[in-house]
Amino acid sequence: MNPSKKAIIIGGSIGGLFAANLLLRAGWDVHIYEQVAAELESRGAGIVTHPELFDALREAGVIVDASLGIQVEERITLDRNGIQIGSLHYPQILTAWGRLFALLIAAFPSERYHGGKVLSTFQQDPNSVTAHFTDGESVSADLLIAADGLRSKVRQTLVPNASPQYAGYIAWRGMVEESVLSPRALKEMFPYFAFGLPEQEQMIAYPVAGKNNSVEPGKRRYNFVWYRPADETTSLRDMVTDASGKIWPEGIPPPLIQTHHLEHARASARQVLAPQFAEMIEKTEHLFFQPVFDLESNQLAFGRIALLGDAAFVARPHVGMGVTKAAEDAQSLVRELTTHDDLSTALEQYQTARLTSGKHIVARARGLGAYMQAQISTPHERAMAEKYRSAGMVMSETAVSLKGK
Ligand SMILES: Cc1cc2nc3c(=O)[nH]c(=O)nc-3n(C[C@H](O)[C@H](O)[C@H](O)COP(=O)(O)OP(=O)(O)OC[C@H]3O[C@@H](n4cnc5c(N)ncnc54)[C@H](O)[C@@H]3O)c2cc1C
Repeated sequence: MNPSKKAIIIGGSIGGLFAANLLLRAGWDVHIYEQVAAELESRGAGIVTHPELFDALREAGVIVDASLGIQVEERITLDRNGIQIGSLHYPQILTAWGRLFALLIAAFPSERYHGGKVLSTFQQDPNSVTAHFTDGESVSADLLIAADGLRSKVRQTLVPNASPQYAGYIAWRGMVEESVLSPRALKEMFPYFAFGLPEQEQMIAYPVAGKNNSVEPGKRRYNFVWYRPADETTSLRDMVTDASGKIWPEGIPPPLIQTHHLEHARASARQVLAPQFAEMIEKTEHLFFQPVFDLESNQLAFGRIALLGDAAFVARPHVGMGVTKAAEDAQSLVRELTTHDDLSTALEQYQTARLTSGKHIVARARGLGAYMQAQISTPHERAMAEKYRSAGMVMSETAVSLKGK
């Protein structure tokens, strides 16, 4: 191992683990610092995979086989009465965040993963970069990778004006056990990547592995994301207010969502969604919602510091690219670091490559989501909202591989 090539990674989630595994395999001395002390736990949602993700997993030292997730063959759209009004053959593997996290952390030496380390400040000079943690420890290295997510401390310090933007709609999310669904839902919904398109709303649902990553029939789960407009200053504000009156503008912790909002969501599901979807929501134990945000950066390289994953760009979920984009950022960064001996040249090359693709992904996701926005403010948004209101367009453009697009 070359001791002159030392890297610190802030954030030990998917982006940090991809970068760490790839750098380690490229001969770097790399350590991850993650603020959460215990093992990270899934936020309970599924992940759509793409061929690009499998390539990155293999490069990161992960064996990709059938245990990764559930293969579906077809996409369908169900109307308000539960009748299939469209279908599209699109084979895809659906997995869970927890599954990917488990595979990536198993590939990384545990003595190099430091939990319970909260980055407080950092500084750099021509020779090194130093991270200071809230427990008083400081660590220096040649390179610092900020994989610290949407609310990145590193990005907020370096570019205070690059902040997440609320998209104008929220996503109700959850998972239901396969074993509790009715025969009708099991037959007409469960085997599919299923869509619903009520006016100005969108339902997306697909099967994922169940408890202990089981893909055995009967033990799987069905995961959904239901987008609904919510005006920032009225409905959203009300929804992110807890029973004590505290407002959580960045998203309310699921246990604090007030019961009447959950009841309203279930009642609305019965009114506007296919009965199969309404049943799924009715039977979901932990129903929760998240406001949808996106984030765009204009700079990713800052001397010895690089932004990566959600710290750099966050696209609305319609492109299904969060994990894949983080993986591709890590691949690109490590490729440039391997090609160029000079660190700042490598980081500038990385920035050039990933700024273009990050902006492309964010713009594409905004187009797909315009249909759900509480307010349409530009002619382009209106055009996009019109374009993505038909079942055919939505099924062929949502969460698909962007290779060549
Ligand atoms: C626990 C967890 C569960 C998730 N579950 C899902 C899911 O089910 N479905 C889905 O689509 N996406 C999920 N995501 C988001 C998904 O991982 C990202 O959208 C995407 O993979 C990009 O990952 P990232 O590593 O760049 O950012 P993130 O996954 O957001 O990771 C950022 C990491 O940085 C750490 N961090 C932040 N600030 C500091 C600091 N100051 N010091 C040290 N560490 C810090 C955070 O604790 C976090 O682990 C989850 C993220 C996390 C952290």
